Amino acid sequence: MSIVKRSFLEQSELLKKEELSCLELTQAYLSRIQEENPKIGAYLSVCAQRAQAQARALDALPREEKYTTPLWGIPFALKDNICTKDLPTTCGSKMLENFIAPYDATVTRRLYHAGGVLLGKTNMDEFGMGNTTELSAFCKTQNPIAPGYVPGGSSGGSAAAVASLQAPYALGSDTGGSVRHPAACCALVGLKPTYGRVSRYGLVAFASSLEQVGVLTRSVRENAAVFSVLSGQDARDATSRAFAPFEDTMCEGADIVGLRIALPIELLDDQIDSPVKKQVLLQAKAFEKLGATVEEVHLPDPTLCLAAYYVISCAEASSNLARFDGVRYGRRSARGADPKEIFSFSRGEGFGHEVKKRILFGTYVLSAGHRDDYYEKALMQKRRATKAVKELFERYDLILCPTAPTLPQKMGAFTDAPFYKGDLCTVFANLTGIPALTLPTGQSEQGLAVGVQLMASHGREDLLYRGAYALEQEGTYAKL
Ligand code: GLN
Repeated sequence: MSIVKRSFLEQSELLKKEELSCLELTQAYLSRIQEENPKIGAYLSVCAQRAQAQARALDALPREEKYTTPLWGIPFALKDNICTKDLPTTCGSKMLENFIAPYDATVTRRLYHAGGVLLGKTNMDEFGMGNTTELSAFCKTQNPIAPGYVPGGSSGGSAAAVASLQAPYALGSDTGGSVRHPAACCALVGLKPTYGRVSRYGLVAFASSLEQVGVLTRSVRENAAVFSVLSGQDARDATSRAFAPFEDTMCEGADIVGLRIALPIELLDDQIDSPVKKQVLLQAKAFEKLGATVEEVHLPDPTLCLAAYYVISCAEASSNLARFDGVRYGRRSARGADPKEIFSFSRGEGFGHEVKKRILFGTYVLSAGHRDDYYEKALMQKRRATKAVKELFERYDLILCPTAPTLPQKMGAFTDAPFYKGDLCTVFANLTGIPALTLPTGQSEQGLAVGVQLMASHGREDLLYRGAYALEQEGTYAKL
């Protein structure tokens, strides 16, 4: 079997037994990228020379400095909004087309420190705004398991890279679902951690109060292994917090007898496509069979949460993206006679349509006279949702619901309106800061992937992994 088909936990065993070197493994991925990337469009940039140099340096270490973590010697990919020193970080935008970050994000450093080998940076919707990856300024990304369909987004390049075996794992960012949504579309496991559990230092900000760096893998155990390396407080991110260290062995062996599962009926109504709904109910049955209890519950109105998400995220984006003016940051227009014109031409030429629309909307909801009508109301909904989850998790361990309300869409089918509906089931975890994970559980009749989502209370990623691991092992994977 080709080495890239194996899980990285198996690859790690082979490295330890010295049946495989880091260089061989890295080169296997680089040739896979050469073959697949022109078709899939997962990577925006590949750092082949540097990856091989990194792998050689790891191979040359004395044995006692090797195999320090399960990620040691394993290649990986990063979404292109995570800073990497001396390499491009474009955020999928013309605005940052030539930007080379002067420093590494904390997550990048953590992965290097754990022995990871960076393969390249992956495609995304511009600044993370979208859920099809069609809004990248540079290229379109194909869904590797359903050609002609989108890979989801905005971390669609990361999902496509892992699903097409061009990387064993990848990081994305999740502001309103951007790790979980593409993971579901590409039949992967995708984690959005608890807000504050993974450092955001060096993640180019879209909506700072909502986003976290997340993990995309092919299996639950691999996901937990990456999360255990990423998580931890960081003095460079004032919003990061101390949690008990996460051990990636937590999902193994633990049964789920007695686990209390909440099934929100609001996320099973007719806004949800039938194969998705069936899949959630099937997994609820699987949970019961394994000894968990499942009960229907109410969640605060998902449509109001979605509206609150868009008001808050656009408000924060309008402020975060103000720095890209062609002077402090970002590409500078050749036109413009005075500073005001330079700002205006640079922003006009650098940002795409969706980004401009959100900046305008965000500026409007924050402006004098409108703030109370929109922004304050959205914050109120956020507080309401946070209170509701607190109460819910006094009675339940996990929430089970869809990841996306619909199946992956055809490429080019994107229009403004239904696009926002795609985030209906994911924004809840971002508004409230709780961790959430999507798990591939089946496919539709046409062979499109369907994922289900689990959410847990703050800091309880261990429960997410336990539940997901149990379902993965149970393997009720079904065509519906
Ligand atoms: N699809 C959502 C949006 O466009 C979420 C994006 C994200 O999580 N980065 O805002």
